[in-house]
Amino acid sequence: MTTIRLILGDQLNIQHSWFSEIADDRLYVLMEVRQETDYVLHHAQKILAIFAAMREMARQLTDRGHRVHYLRIDDPTNLHAIPANIDVLAAQLKANQVEYQMPDEWRLDEQLYQHSRHSAIPWRMVDSEHFLTTRHHASDIFAARKQWLMEHFYRQMRAQYQVLMSAGKPVGGQWNYDQDNRKAWRGTPAEPQDARATHDHSTLWQDIVNAGVQSFGEPSERQFRWALNRQEAIEQLTAFIQHGLPFFGDFQDAMSTKAWRLFHSLLSFALNVKMLHPREVIQQAEDAYHAGLVPLAAAEGFIRQILGWREYIRGVYWAQMPTYAEKNFFDHQRPLPAWFWTGETKMNCLSHAINQSLEQAHAHHIQRLMVIGNFSLLAGLSPIAVHQWYLGVYIDAFEWVELPNTIGMSQFADGGLLATKPYVSSAAYIDKMSDYCKGCHYDKKSRIGDNACPFNALYWDFFERNKKKLANNPRIGMAYRQLEKMDEKVIADFQHQALKIIDNLDSL
Ligand code: FAD
Ligand code: SF4
Repeated sequence: MTTIRLILGDQLNIQHSWFSEIADDRLYVLMEVRQETDYVLHHAQKILAIFAAMREMARQLTDRGHRVHYLRIDDPTNLHAIPANIDVLAAQLKANQVEYQMPDEWRLDEQLYQHSRHSAIPWRMVDSEHFLTTRHHASDIFAARKQWLMEHFYRQMRAQYQVLMSAGKPVGGQWNYDQDNRKAWRGTPAEPQDARATHDHSTLWQDIVNAGVQSFGEPSERQFRWALNRQEAIEQLTAFIQHGLPFFGDFQDAMSTKAWRLFHSLLSFALNVKMLHPREVIQQAEDAYHAGLVPLAAAEGFIRQILGWREYIRGVYWAQMPTYAEKNFFDHQRPLPAWFWTGETKMNCLSHAINQSLEQAHAHHIQRLMVIGNFSLLAGLSPIAVHQWYLGVYIDAFEWVELPNTIGMSQFADGGLLATKPYVSSAAYIDKMSDYCKGCHYDKKSRIGDNACPFNALYWDFFERNKKKLANNPRIGMAYRQLEKMDEKVIADFQHQALKIIDNLDSL
């Protein structure tokens, strides 16, 4: 009798209790399937990273003495759907049950659950042993509240897990040091060296291409740098704590043409495929603070992203699915301009953020939120199209974390459940936080005319056209007070300019 244990591509946690004992009656199954490569158009590095890390996991489990069945993308017996492959294997082995870890994406959770209901043998779901909260923790906390404030959730998590706490109070007397974390970066301190190992995955890349999988972005198969096992992820974490974390707080919101990662950790892939546990990442950051190696604002700011945002976002996802992707508060319908796929735009900020995304499969938070997301919202792009682009392009994009960030935080498409106000700005914010405007074709100060920065007119047009939906929001009162003081002719000029921009999105 055999138990089949399914391991999904984002469940590469070699420390899971499943692997604590070796038994001949358990078969671990990993599979490279078109079902997972094709549900959205993916960046080449994302497909490559997940398959390479899965192959590495299979190798490590085999080396430890576990029985492993690995189905490659080019295997002629591969049916390219997870349940169908499991059924064939179960019949061949006369398996008596299937076990799987709790999927993080609604689509997979639903698929496996529905399939298990009609299977001839029992399917049993176990915990993935990764998160610090249950799927429904956030919805339990917020119950009937109209708005779900992350800060409320975060304070509860700090107290529950006793992170940066002393005698029931936050260390340093404050919960949040965000106001200290908003500096622009002018070239010093130097960006840390990229300590990640380099891999050559040209053979695997060829397998993926030969199988006909479509993708976009730079594969970098010979210079591939994402962590592919726990050891590499731990080395990356250690290097970040030493060289990046001390400056993480100060420059968390900064953007630069000269430094693509700045002081960010680049740990989201390793975390999201579960090579690292959030608790160990938080612990290392807290230890570095207690050892006097990093300022409190840096440690707190970083910990808040993982203990706060990451867990909270997951809670929003499970509370809102399956309909969250359909939210469209502003009824935005425009398709993405073609330069989302090429980076060929005269707007320096977008050219930089998109080209970096295409080359690295990564952009840091402020590039995602205040450049690409900001423009998408101001230009009225369809939230679902924006969501699909983000889900495809980033190395760390799995729907449970990408969707609420895009639909809720970035596009305000849920009408303000997650974000207290739409994250939009004119050129002034981008100029303050980056050096993008200096080399730009457009003039950051101009609002009207062919050379005017498109963000400026779009910004005022956005508030004017959404007056009914937004004017009562106390967090954006200032924008409306400024609009009230504007001459009608000035507003009409903004609207006219915005229309011209929107009609010519592809040629910006
Ligand atoms: P760091 O800046 O070093 O932060 C440390 C860690 O904190 C990250 O690795 C991540 O695990 C966590 N974190 C930080 N911010 C968030 C957040 N808002 N939500 C959840 N976790 C967070 N993150 C993803 O992991 N996957 C996504 O698909 C994703 N899509 C996003 C889409 C949009 C529109 C926006 C605005 C943000 C998105 N984020 C996403 C959040 C954030 O941008 C990335 O986690 C971060 O850029 C990853 O790089 P890093 O590891 O260097 O992060
Ligand atoms: Fe972006 Fe406008 Fe600045 Fe150009 S001027 S980089 S388009 S914000």
